[in-house]
Amino acid sequence: MRSFWIEFLTAAASHPFPAIPGDIPTPYDFDHMFPNVPAAPGMPCAGEDRSIYRRGARRWRKLYRVNGHIFQAKRFNRRAFCAFCQDRIWGLGRQGFKCIQCKLLVHKKCHKLVQKPCSNEHVDPVEVKEDANGESTLGRASSVRSRAEPEPLPETPPAPPAPVRAEDLEPGSQRHYSLEDFELIRVIGRGSYAKVLMVELKRTKRVYAMKVIKKALVTDDEDIDWVQTEKHVFETASNHPFLVGLHSCFQTPSRLFFVIEFVRGGDLMFHMQRQRRLPEEHARFYAAEISLALHFLHERGVIYRDLKLDNVLLDHEGHIKLTDYGMCKEGVRPGDTTSTFCGTPNYIAPEILRGEEYGFSVDWWALGVLTYEMLAGRSPFDIAQAADNPDQNTEDYLFQVILEKTIRIPRSLSVKAASVLKGFLNKNPAERLGCGEGAFLDIVNHPFFKSIEWEMLEQKQVVPPFKPRLEGERDLANFPPEFTDEPVHLTPDDDTVIADIDQSEFEGFEYVNPLLMSLEDCV
Ligand code: ADP
Ligand code: MG
Repeated sequence: MRSFWIEFLTAAASHPFPAIPGDIPTPYDFDHMFPNVPAAPGMPCAGEDRSIYRRGARRWRKLYRVNGHIFQAKRFNRRAFCAFCQDRIWGLGRQGFKCIQCKLLVHKKCHKLVQKPCSNEHVDPVEVKEDANGESTLGRASSVRSRAEPEPLPETPPAPPAPVRAEDLEPGSQRHYSLEDFELIRVIGRGSYAKVLMVELKRTKRVYAMKVIKKALVTDDEDIDWVQTEKHVFETASNHPFLVGLHSCFQTPSRLFFVIEFVRGGDLMFHMQRQRRLPEEHARFYAAEISLALHFLHERGVIYRDLKLDNVLLDHEGHIKLTDYGMCKEGVRPGDTTSTFCGTPNYIAPEILRGEEYGFSVDWWALGVLTYEMLAGRSPFDIAQAADNPDQNTEDYLFQVILEKTIRIPRSLSVKAASVLKGFLNKNPAERLGCGEGAFLDIVNHPFFKSIEWEMLEQKQVVPPFKPRLEGERDLANFPPEFTDEPVHLTPDDDTVIADIDQSEFEGFEYVNPLLMSLEDCV
């Protein structure tokens, strides 16, 4: 059976190259423009490289089969009791297992003892493959494994605040938002999990981005851990100039909404598709700002795990902002490691592919891949030429290339650029730039970054090399027409889909950033 999951991944895998009718070169990018007329519809333009296109981020998850059940590690944010020993499922680590078919809950320690067969065994909602160890993995790539990882639990379960409408409250008091508070203006992006809209908060007329995630996807996928993580990291991110901050969160029966800063300059994927490659000076600036953003996250115990062109946005001045914290791993102390197999295939570090425990090193690898893409205009694991050979056009082949192939640096690059790429793209995390004794200082002191004044940079005092062309606050010239031309409305809720959603999973999702709220009140 072809599972929903696989259909979903296939659909999310890539977007066509924007050889967009009517996509007229604008003055600022004319020098680097592809001749934007392909020989035939669907064909690449001259100089176009498809190896850097949008690809969905993914998680591979581990499943355990016992007595017809398919258990998955899970963290419960409400009272849950073990169906085997009747004790409460609580404590440190992902103590609970939930059968993805019959929803039976048990302790991890009890799952092998469960005698009761799965009541829903005939329902096979997912494609499960077993590996040599009897462990099951999901997804297309049978040779990849993922491991459950321990997650810290809060001491007490969070008390869910009752949703309150903004106008019901006294001015200045904590209030929650709802969909009616916003006017939906345009679709501006899509990733593997979310649709992102440009919206206006009616009361203040301020513009925000709204990241919309269908609850059905969250529960089909795994559990709500990543949603909670995304929310926490958005909160942390609100304190850094190169990270997208959070305004508020709310929900409807079918969807979760993150209202976040609207970053007007579009993402680096959009710009890279219009500029064949970047001058070293530009790539250096972006790589340095991204390094500061990553370092900030690492210092706060967060591994980003999904650095790629489409998650790096440019603000109206041309400074970068990282967005999309759905793949982050929180609570990592120096020296700690984790082992979940996740990321976007082209950017996954070799240590993840080797199934090793890993730490912050994976982000520096991904920065190497991204910097290579900016400088060379193609992926370091360019298997585009192999696209006609079905054996070489698989994810397994890509992983093999990442693991084994020596990375060739284009001769046109400077010695310093070649050196920084080799540094980040060292397949041994212990020797990788940014991961040794000197840690972040090794990046700061690398000759490639010699001209960077890091303190000025962090304070946004360095003028960006490129300013996105924008005519006004709401100009969407930097967002792909394939998104902005989409109808903006959200499809009405489907009762049968909602009936399958366990709403208690999302209790306490509502949030309002106190800082932004007081700013708004000053308006
Ligand atoms: P996913 O988790 O599904 O990958 P993302 O958060 O990456 O979703 O958002 C998808 C796309 O939407 C991004 O690649 C980017 O182009 C656009 N986008 C996301 N957040 C913003 C934002 N705050 N401002 C402007 N565009 C955004
Ligand atoms: Mg994304």
